[in-house]
Amino acid sequence: MSKNVLILPGDGIGPEIVTQAKRVLELVNSQFSLDLEFTEALVGGAAIDADGVPLPASTLEAAQKADAILLGAVGGPKWDTNPDFQIRPEKGLLGIRSNLGLFGNLRPAILYPQLAHASSLKPEIVSGLDILIVRELTGGIYFGQPRGIRVKEGGIREGFNTYVYDENEIRRIGRVAFEAARQRGKKLCSVDKANVLEVTVLWREIMEEVAKDYPDVELSHMYVDNAAMQLVRAPKQFDVMVTGNMFGDILSDAAAMLTGSIGMLPSASLDVNGKGMYEPCHGSAPDIAGQGKANPLATILSVAMMLRYSLDAGEAADKIEAAVSQVLDQNLRTADIMSEGMTAVSTSQMGDAVVAALKG
Ligand code: NAD
Repeated sequence: MSKNVLILPGDGIGPEIVTQAKRVLELVNSQFSLDLEFTEALVGGAAIDADGVPLPASTLEAAQKADAILLGAVGGPKWDTNPDFQIRPEKGLLGIRSNLGLFGNLRPAILYPQLAHASSLKPEIVSGLDILIVRELTGGIYFGQPRGIRVKEGGIREGFNTYVYDENEIRRIGRVAFEAARQRGKKLCSVDKANVLEVTVLWREIMEEVAKDYPDVELSHMYVDNAAMQLVRAPKQFDVMVTGNMFGDILSDAAAMLTGSIGMLPSASLDVNGKGMYEPCHGSAPDIAGQGKANPLATILSVAMMLRYSLDAGEAADKIEAAVSQVLDQNLRTADIMSEGMTAVSTSQMGDAVVAALKG
């Protein structure tokens, strides 16, 4: 039976990078007889311009029907000044995440050896780095109630938030992480602050419980402060890391920056059934939009993640990742990863090279 992929190009460089990623997806669709069908819709600023809202009902409906979603990026200065936060591009993304229950955020930090010099750390510390951070995306302190700013006795204002997870929320993100670890190096490090926060005492207990179903995966625990330190000291010790929303937000950005190249990093946000939205980690880069300078590889690698996690096409995913490595071996570089002696290419030329490697 055919599967439907919803394509949301979005704003800024979104349409340029998605065009290249779609070429790659269409090619592997025919090479591996995947029987994929494609639908396209508006989200973010593009949707505000056309329909007045960042997530039109027709886009949400298409997202609900799709088997997987590929997103470019949303946002830009044109829409940033709207005082009504409901009419901001980011609301389009948040709306899809919450309506579809996309609670499991997978963010790989991979450093291709060819780009080791791009990191701010020494090449020997990061070369060949391949970490997957699994972040809980719809709970924790970012959503906990009560929250707000109130005035207490003596007229002193205080801000407060609630860090809360129930055991089901912890269990389901735990399962996503264990499943991912099982498909990789079979090592999972759960990050918490169980020496201080009761909510993460429960987090640790539930992770231990879930571990019983995954005897082939080695589970360890680390406090978040130590995890931050270890990520910059010896990041290659990690295979998969799992953590809550706020710790994951911070650690995944730190891990991403170890690779030094935001244009290379894909991500996935999954629901309980493995359906997901796939997008590059970077934003809409309005400073380079429309100039053919954007690196399409993060979006192309997001297509690989989509094939692996939502479309049961791991072989096609492997082939795309190998093709990306091959174009780097050919010394082709977009401006963000350019260095001496390399050949500068545009967004579409990088797409051409990946397509050629796939056909090769
Ligand atoms: P950004 O990631 O768009 O850009 C940061 C820097 O990285 C810029 O210099 C940009 O040119 C460069 N860059 C980003 N992607 C690149 C690529 N593929 N190739 C080459 N260079 C690339 O972050 P920002 O400037 O903080 O945000 C710009 C807009 O994007 C804002 O409106 C923001 O709200 C939005 N944003 C959207 C998402 C998303 O859609 N998921 C995520 C982050 C930011």
